[in-house]
Amino acid sequence: MKKNDEFIMDITDVTAEGNGVGRYDGIAVFVPNTAVGDKVKVHIVKVKKNFCFGKAVEIIELSKDRVEEDCPVFTKCGGCVYRHISYDCELKLKQKRVEETMRRIGGINILASPILSGDDKRYRNKAQYPIDDGGEVGFFAVHSHRIIPVKDCLLQPKEFSVVADALREYMQRFSISTYNEESGKGIVRHLYIRKATATNEIMVALVINATKLNNTDYLINCLKEILGKNFKTFVLNINTEKTNVILGKENIVLYGDGYITDILRDNKIRINPLSFYQVNRNMAEILYKKAEEYLEPDNKNILDLYCGAGTIGLSFAKKAKSIIGVEIIPEAIEDAKFNAKLNGIENARFICADASNAAKILRDEGITVDGVVLDPPRKGCEAELLSVIAYDFAPEKIVYVSCDVATLARDVKILEEKGYKVAEYTPVDLFPRTSHVETVALLIKGESYAKQR
Ligand code: SAH
Repeated sequence: MKKNDEFIMDITDVTAEGNGVGRYDGIAVFVPNTAVGDKVKVHIVKVKKNFCFGKAVEIIELSKDRVEEDCPVFTKCGGCVYRHISYDCELKLKQKRVEETMRRIGGINILASPILSGDDKRYRNKAQYPIDDGGEVGFFAVHSHRIIPVKDCLLQPKEFSVVADALREYMQRFSISTYNEESGKGIVRHLYIRKATATNEIMVALVINATKLNNTDYLINCLKEILGKNFKTFVLNINTEKTNVILGKENIVLYGDGYITDILRDNKIRINPLSFYQVNRNMAEILYKKAEEYLEPDNKNILDLYCGAGTIGLSFAKKAKSIIGVEIIPEAIEDAKFNAKLNGIENARFICADASNAAKILRDEGITVDGVVLDPPRKGCEAELLSVIAYDFAPEKIVYVSCDVATLARDVKILEEKGYKVAEYTPVDLFPRTSHVETVALLIKGESYAKQR
């Protein structure tokens, strides 16, 4: 097969990234934005040793899973990969992908419990829009820093697009420049909005390449008018570095208190521009509830590793005997301590450290734990940490929350070799229409567990 070849092919599978897959001459051909059951005319755009990438130039037969695409920038913006198939079909694909990965990488032969899901539209509570030269907000194109203007993203709350309109009008009225990534010149870098979806409170922040901005009173008054009482705070976030990290470290609060407050599983959670908080609050509640159901923390000593702002542990702290949360980012630990106090929780302690180091320190302090929750970033846990958990703490239960099922599968295999058994696991769709899915797994100390290294 060579570049620019064209042929007709059936799409028979889909990858984790959402690309359709077919076979031609025994070679796998990946075709974005197609669905299992499509018959397509493919134009080959890239040839690798054992596979090719193609583009569907014509869809000859439509899959029964297809639905009408409802976003004008679908396939251009880097966000959604599944707007062309029904949400039901997407959930089935995610369920299957989680099960296959757990079996292939983890050697886990039990099937997943049915995937948990909620709204597939407007579920996000945070947006970071880059701004183009015309003051138009948007999102970056796939694998690029080219800005695709987006009027109204269907994953974001409706109000966010109204805030974007107000920003554009303000920038034009006062001739405020846009930051240019190449030259490092210009002022406004990103529009950053967060919404506490349980209380409807909204924070608007502008990330600027300067230490002050003119005429912000005008913008703040517009926002008060269009958002009403839900508009709680306006912040300038200062980022004068030549970097593609979005937020700088310094915030200047120009209206309100610099934070909004959400409610998550009955706890009040304070969110500032830099706080880590799950982007889908409603499904985070369901995920944490499942984690609690698996862990059964009542009257137990629980270790919450990779705790962020402490939201998992705090959600069942009142039932548990004690909670120890560990997290590497100091600001997140400050938030966790604040949130504990805000909710009258006195049995939680938070440590700012690398999870593996903290686990060793706690072990050397002689701390005993009955259950461990792990919620690491995509790369998963270090093998050393899994050893300390399995051999030194040896809790009855380990609950592992993961945003990458491949590293989850790798890590549960290691824990199984150390005497734990995966009893159950559940995919939870925190990110509908994108390729991402969360999984929560329960591991129980097996009958054959023997403390050994
Ligand atoms: N449990 C939290 C956060 C999960 S995200 C929640 O549900 O909101 C993963 C967290 O792990 C992030 O907050 C990240 O800062 C933290 N982290 C990353 N590497 C770490 C490490 N080596 N040790 C401890 N925490 C780490």
